[in-house]
Amino acid sequence: MIGGGVVGMATLAASVGAGHATICYEPGPVMGERSAGSTRIFRVAHSDSQLVRAARTARDAFERWSGLAGPPMLVNRGCVITGTDVADRAAAMAAAGADYELIDAGSDQLRIPVVDAPAVTLLDVGGGVVNVNTATALRRVVRG
Ligand SMILES: Cc1cc2nc3c(=O)[nH]c(=O)nc-3n(C[C@H](O)[C@H](O)[C@H](O)COP(=O)(O)OP(=O)(O)OC[C@H]3O[C@@H](n4cnc5c(N)ncnc54)[C@H](O)[C@@H]3O)c2cc1C
Repeated sequence: MIGGGVVGMATLAASVGAGHATICYEPGPVMGERSAGSTRIFRVAHSDSQLVRAARTARDAFERWSGLAGPPMLVNRGCVITGTDVADRAAAMAAAGADYELIDAGSDQLRIPVVDAPAVTLLDVGGGVVNVNTATALRRVVRG
């Protein structure tokens, strides 16, 4: 395996989990480059239904790994999405069978005070936050 970011660590976990002796080559600290930090936004909402399906597969993997890592790696708080492509995202999520809600400007589901909210906002029910010390957690996942 080349590289110890989140993609490399995920691949390493899958390879070790399948019983292969695998070495990860990483010149710097594990999770030290783009994957550094303790939090990331996780969203299922994409405007391509294949990406929506892929995100749900990733969410399932995070949930499986949480059992090995200890604390939950993915905090499922939902994710509020705005922008001109909300309708495209809603269509792709519907095609992939992912949960979403379209919420109005005045709705308290927005959860944040918004002075000038868009007319329609998408609530990505399966979205949330990758909210752990991922480096430590993924090391535990790899070790099993
Ligand atoms: C500030 C910031 C905020 C972000 N926010 C979000 C967010 O909210 N939600 C989200 O989904 N995504 C977010 N991203 C994107 C996400 O973090 C990246 O897509 C993800 O971390 C990339 O993981 P990676 O494993 O592909 O790459 P990296 O984490 O960069 O890992 C690649 C590793 O390969 C190593 N490497 C490179 N060349 C070699 C070589 N020749 N030999 C051996 N090792 C090598 C590097 O040292 C590095 O450790 C954000 C990114 C940044 C920078």
